[in-house]
Amino acid sequence: MFSGKEDFKEQYLAEVSETMAKPFGECTRREKYEVLAKMICSRAAKLHAETRLRHSTLRRKEVYYFSMEFLLGRLLTNYLINFGAEATVRAGLKDLGEDLDELSRMEPDPGLGNGGLGRLAACFLDSMAFEDIAATGMGARYRFGLFKQKIENGKQTEEPDPWLVNGYPWEIRNWDSARQIRFGGRVERTFENGKISFEHTAYQTVLAVPYDVPIVGYGGKTVNMLRLWQAEPPEEKIDLAAFSRGEYSEAVRERNEIEAITAILYPDDTTPAGKELRLKQEYFLTAAGIASIIDHYKHQYGASAWRAFPDRVAIHTNDTHPALCVPELMRLLLDQENLEWDDAWDIVTKTISFTNHTIMPEALEKWPIGLMQQLLPRVYMIIEEIDRRYRESFDRSLPGWQERLSSSAVLWDGQVRMANLSIIGSHSVNGVAAIHTDILKNDVFKAFCHRDSQKFNNKTNGVSHRRFLLESNPDLSELITSAIGSGWISDAGQLENLLPYGNDSAFLDELEKIKYGNKCRLASYIKESSGIIIDPASLFDVQVKRIHAYKRQLLNIFKIMHLYNRLKRDPDMDLHPHTFIFSGKAAQSYEFAKETVRLIHALADKVNSDPQVSEKIKVVFLENFGVSLGQLIYPAADISEQISTAGKEASGTGNMKFMFNGAVTLGTMDGANVEIHELAGDDNIFIFGLSAREVAEYGFRGDYHSQDICRRLPDLAQITDQLVNGFFGGQTDAFWSIHDALIRYNDEYFVLADFEDYLKTFFRAGEAFEDRRKWNRMSLANIAKAGYFTSDRTVLQYAEEIWNVK
Ligand SMILES: *Cc1c(COP(=O)(O)O)cnc(C)c1O
Repeated sequence: MFSGKEDFKEQYLAEVSETMAKPFGECTRREKYEVLAKMICSRAAKLHAETRLRHSTLRRKEVYYFSMEFLLGRLLTNYLINFGAEATVRAGLKDLGEDLDELSRMEPDPGLGNGGLGRLAACFLDSMAFEDIAATGMGARYRFGLFKQKIENGKQTEEPDPWLVNGYPWEIRNWDSARQIRFGGRVERTFENGKISFEHTAYQTVLAVPYDVPIVGYGGKTVNMLRLWQAEPPEEKIDLAAFSRGEYSEAVRERNEIEAITAILYPDDTTPAGKELRLKQEYFLTAAGIASIIDHYKHQYGASAWRAFPDRVAIHTNDTHPALCVPELMRLLLDQENLEWDDAWDIVTKTISFTNHTIMPEALEKWPIGLMQQLLPRVYMIIEEIDRRYRESFDRSLPGWQERLSSSAVLWDGQVRMANLSIIGSHSVNGVAAIHTDILKNDVFKAFCHRDSQKFNNKTNGVSHRRFLLESNPDLSELITSAIGSGWISDAGQLENLLPYGNDSAFLDELEKIKYGNKCRLASYIKESSGIIIDPASLFDVQVKRIHAYKRQLLNIFKIMHLYNRLKRDPDMDLHPHTFIFSGKAAQSYEFAKETVRLIHALADKVNSDPQVSEKIKVVFLENFGVSLGQLIYPAADISEQISTAGKEASGTGNMKFMFNGAVTLGTMDGANVEIHELAGDDNIFIFGLSAREVAEYGFRGDYHSQDICRRLPDLAQITDQLVNGFFGGQTDAFWSIHDALIRYNDEYFVLADFEDYLKTFFRAGEAFEDRRKWNRMSLANIAKAGYFTSDRTVLQYAEEIWNVK
């Protein structure tokens, strides 16, 4: 990219004077960032054109990854690393009196996702580009990403995140590839020459304009693209008559209505309000993406080569949000390309594949039939026909068929069930960790498995170890490279070569020193952002992720309350100092989660202001969790809290990011923790609690009684009482909803059931931590075994076993 730092400086300064029309010294830091990012982006865009040409000459099968969420994180440093130019640019900037990390912090971190699912999509883009897979991401360009979390008086408040105010240097608006999307209207059947056709009239037209973000693979050889679609009104959408009557807001009413489609990202835990808009978003992304795929295909292969479509195109749907890909691709093949139903259906099912991300029943998407019919009349007709044919194909001679049909049909009870649509319309359905896939096969989607068991497969999630280790933890990366060479960067499996260093005391000391340095870095961020002073020599016990009942931040909180109570009774209790670090957003409408955030703050106040205990324990909540903050936190953790109720966390990916950075997991046998346990080995992880089977059995038998546990454990009874007895201030400050969820409504997530074992295991981990040699060896074993969790491995499995590319 640059032949050396002098070359870089020359090009960069030339770019500055050309675009900023003022000398470098007069530019703000943000402007300096912007010029640098634009410069790298335009090189990436050029390489994208080359990649496309190469892939198309090789007739490579193309993968389209549809996702309503992409949590990209900042790109500048990442792309410099991928282009092999980081050191050069860093040195050049230093000569100019600038610092790459400071410049990089000027970049907005686009919050175009809620959490794990969106970050997974971004990790996949990274790995697909690295593996030279011809892949395009399809997403939405929300003007406001997920809300910014602010804590006021110990409570979460939400502020809009206008991440685009200063522009986004990594995107290229591609007006010439805009598509028209239709909403509403009527569909009429007409007969002509014995053929039925469907005419759609009186619809509203919305323009879908793509903004393309280049995705640079490590090594800089492959540059793919993420297409973010924005909804815009067609130009004529202004009511001039109304305008000239002075009715300005009426004149632009329809424009606003259309622009609202990609105005904001919906939080995952949705309320009924705004449902219609959410469905519009889903169809908008799907229809824009499918139309662009079809056009590109026809351009490339001609307008009649449909049979070969599944050999040349793979469409992957990340969760059910893009499930309308199934009827929309059908619609275009039938109505626009004039294929027969059976041929079209064969193409659709061979092309589309689907990943399920959750078994939480409230997260399985359903839409009222009436809404679907009114908003997408032709698409709904196709869904109806898919459902009709599915029912017809059902073998009614087998016992239990009625039950299976009722749980697997698409239309049921006045609703369109999106997961069922996705499964029926796909050739592959995968879960995201071994235990999750088992639950899908044996429980949630059992009815399908009976017919189509070969469709179901597992693809354990992964994360980009280049972002979450190489970029986020440069000191550790350097130590690793000094020991085993740099091969691990492109082949994470090589991290296993670190295992022999478990007996090298100099190496282990170095590992400890690096962890300490990362803890200091986080401690100074905490001091700056919240004023709380923490001891980097204390054990950092970290839980960062969305706040959710099933993730059980509550269990962690109760553990800290228990320590507080013990320290108050026995201030001389032997306890290595601990810092408990939380971070995460609660969905705006999710009261229980917001109360959990408030409880963490109430507890932090209590603990941190009490000199009797704050020597031993501190509690910190970091505001506004996101990819950038994560990159600072994961490398600084000693203990990784992965304590969801077994059976509820599909995979988790935070657990993997911690592991790459040498944190030791304290967790349940849930999601990918099961595989972490298997790889790291029993000695290098702390497992506790009910198993998924035990949780399910409680469910069948109905004999769990949370109050019995409080009766048996007085310490726990004290804690649940403290939620409401004035311990946290007056009655208005009490945590009744949390108390009641546990005591009156019988503790749906088994917090009380797992408390005792959790606590015991926590103390076991604390003891291990005090044996520094032993702990460092555990930490190293985790790093060495983390390679399996690179998303490089995951996307290669998708490529070979689902998409059939390579
Ligand atoms: C990795 C990641 C998550 C997922 O965390 P889990 O612990 O798996 O729930 C959520 N949010 C962000 C910003 C992440 O980077």
